[in-house]
Amino acid sequence: MKKILIATSNPGKLRDFAGAAAAHDVEITAIPNLAALPVVLEDGLTFEENARKKAEQYSLAVPGEIVLADDSGLEVDALNGAPGVHSARYAADEPHQADENTDDDANNARVLRELNGVPAEKRTGKFVCVIAAARNGQMLATFRGVAEGVILDHLRGTGGFGYDPMFYFPGIRKTFAELTPEEKANYSHRGAAFRKFLAWIDATR
Ligand code: IMP
Repeated sequence: MKKILIATSNPGKLRDFAGAAAAHDVEITAIPNLAALPVVLEDGLTFEENARKKAEQYSLAVPGEIVLADDSGLEVDALNGAPGVHSARYAADEPHQADENTDDDANNARVLRELNGVPAEKRTGKFVCVIAAARNGQMLATFRGVAEGVILDHLRGTGGFGYDPMFYFPGIRKTFAELTPEEKANYSHRGAAFRKFLAWIDATR
């Protein structure tokens, strides 16, 4: 069974990756002792930039291994693409501090507040995930996945993490917080990016 190292300590992301890997005979493991490694400042202007930075730097800690890092977030059309790369720290006071994440509840509350009064047909948005693969500090490739949906005016569902409870996926009439891990892997931005990575690694081995 293929073993893939992921540079994240976010339990929600790890669950998503494990769900996506389950269908492909791949085992997902977090980089050991990630918390003890120097923090990578996520101050890039794009998901690509931040994902590359994390993959390059964290891959130095596990020589010879392919390391994946994911940078992801929610882009809301009515908010001109916000929270975007600031998704993990959207509730922080401006200017956003690149190394200070804020609570999921507080981030959700800010998006709901900013969309207050915006009619249903204008509440479109998408989740974006960029996965970067690196080895020995060198970039190998990046993979992008997108999931398009609608931002509800209330939270629905208890699963998932982050903005999942407000992200309604019209295809199956559920929010991402109402999905099983298998369903989320099927429909999510992270699942889509991960499938691209698997196709790439199969083609290069
Ligand atoms: P990152 O760790 O800098 O990539 O931050 C990602 C942030 O984007 C998370 O903390 C969430 O707020 C949001 N996000 C990314 N992917 C998802 C998802 O699948 N569901 C819900 N929120 C997500």
